[in-house]
Amino acid sequence: MGRAFVYVIVGGGVAAGYAALEFARRGVAHGELCIISEESVAPYERPALSKGYLLPEAPARLPAFHTCVGANDERLTQKWYKENGIELVLGTRVKSADVRRKTLITATGETISYKILIIATGARALKLEEFGVRGSDAENVCYLRNLADANRLVGVMQNCSGGNAVVIGGGYVGMECAAALATNRIKVTMVFPEAHCMARLFTPKIAEFYENYYNSKGVEFIKGNVLTSFENDSDGKVKAVILKDGTRLPADMVVVGIGIRPNTGLFEGQLHLEKGGIKVNGRMQTSNASVYAVGDVAAFPVKLFGNEIRRLEHVDSARRTARHAVAVIMAPTTGDLDYLPFFYSRVFTLSWQFYGDNIGEAIHYGDFSSGRFGAYWIYKGVIVGAFLEGGSRDDYEAIANAVRLKATVKDIPELKRAGIEFAFRVSEQAAPENGLLVEKPIYTKYAAAGVVLALSIASVAYWYGRRRRVW
Ligand SMILES: Cc1cc2nc3c(=O)[nH]c(=O)nc-3n(C[C@H](O)[C@H](O)[C@H](O)COP(=O)(O)OP(=O)(O)OC[C@H]3O[C@@H](n4cnc5c(N)ncnc54)[C@H](O)[C@@H]3O)c2cc1C
Repeated sequence: MGRAFVYVIVGGGVAAGYAALEFARRGVAHGELCIISEESVAPYERPALSKGYLLPEAPARLPAFHTCVGANDERLTQKWYKENGIELVLGTRVKSADVRRKTLITATGETISYKILIIATGARALKLEEFGVRGSDAENVCYLRNLADANRLVGVMQNCSGGNAVVIGGGYVGMECAAALATNRIKVTMVFPEAHCMARLFTPKIAEFYENYYNSKGVEFIKGNVLTSFENDSDGKVKAVILKDGTRLPADMVVVGIGIRPNTGLFEGQLHLEKGGIKVNGRMQTSNASVYAVGDVAAFPVKLFGNEIRRLEHVDSARRTARHAVAVIMAPTTGDLDYLPFFYSRVFTLSWQFYGDNIGEAIHYGDFSSGRFGAYWIYKGVIVGAFLEGGSRDDYEAIANAVRLKATVKDIPELKRAGIEFAFRVSEQAAPENGLLVEKPIYTKYAAAGVVLALSIASVAYWYGRRRRVW
């Protein structure tokens, strides 16, 4: 049994949703495009799972956050796919792929063939077992990568009110889950091996601000330590977490956020891999000309970093790379992607954005006590990265410009003093009337991560009884 399509997307997450919209806008004919997804729902904005989805009041639920609301664009429900003649094969895992024969075989035994394939298989959460710790299958141990995980987490959380949670991992999933748990009146202890939270991005000074803020919400941190085992009750539920130094933490629930691994398995030995992902060129094309890769699974050249190959695990990158691949497929004269890496997070009533790369020297500015601060990263005399907490839309546009334009820094004390004003000056000097063309930063087009998330943040703000600027 088999079916044939001109275009097939394997994976039905963020990138698939944005690719579908781009295909529709570029006039894909009915019956030409098929999306195969292991998940049982149409593509949705995954970041909502650790934000609006976990709110104690008026939580976000599907269909509200199907893609592409995160880019303030159309919301693609299952009906939309039907109306646009796009075959959505849900709840179906692709179990093997043959890029030479251009075929995929699903877990149900169906063979689906394609002329052009887009790999959008994303990544999966790393399991404790991969680090030699057993017990992930206990009913009160949660991960968070997909909707099924989120539903499970909500269920466990609801039975844990007033109890203790241990969050393993200090990255963005751990940080966002810890904030959500605390908001749900659960006492949280975070455990991670690094010296401070968000170690891959934050400087110690930035991390200190967030850790103090979390402390003020009752969240405690145990740093430089790791989980070694669980203590279970007679029903098999975890009742305590044991750390490497012997510390025993009583736990009514555990959330594990220790990183992800790209889903490359179907294509290993068939396509070139790099940085743990599928290597593509600036047109998102893999080592096989009929196969493209986008989103978390793709390792692509970042022009801004001298075409260094990077694999980004950020929603904006998934959206952009997906749209670019479809543009290339439908309009073959399309050039290489020119992407400014961008990442954001929102916890409690805080909100930050980061653009570029965090290499070189970090220069902090602003007022850390009032929560209005930022940092620039300077490498070889130019700004290569910028972080800002609590900025306005204009502020974020300005720092994005400073990074994109690789603004030269001659006087570091002056940069520190000027802070965000430095970025505004750079934008002003580069304005078209001053002779230089500034490409509109991503923020204005995509970073306003959508209606649902806006509503979620608004709800958090409401829950805290405060008014705050959301975007
Ligand atoms: C809880 C959470 C919060 C996040 N918050 C932020 C944030 O605040 N900011 C930010 O920038 N980024 C955030 N991210 C990251 C962002 O969501 C990802 O970068 C983005 O989802 C990547 O999109 P993707 O389409 O590549 O992969 P995914 O969205 O993961 O989609 C991959 C899809 O492929 C399917 N699939 C995999 N293998 C197969 C197979 N063999 N057969 C069929 N289907 C398959 C999966 O089931 C899934 O549906 C967050 C991620 C999570 C999990």
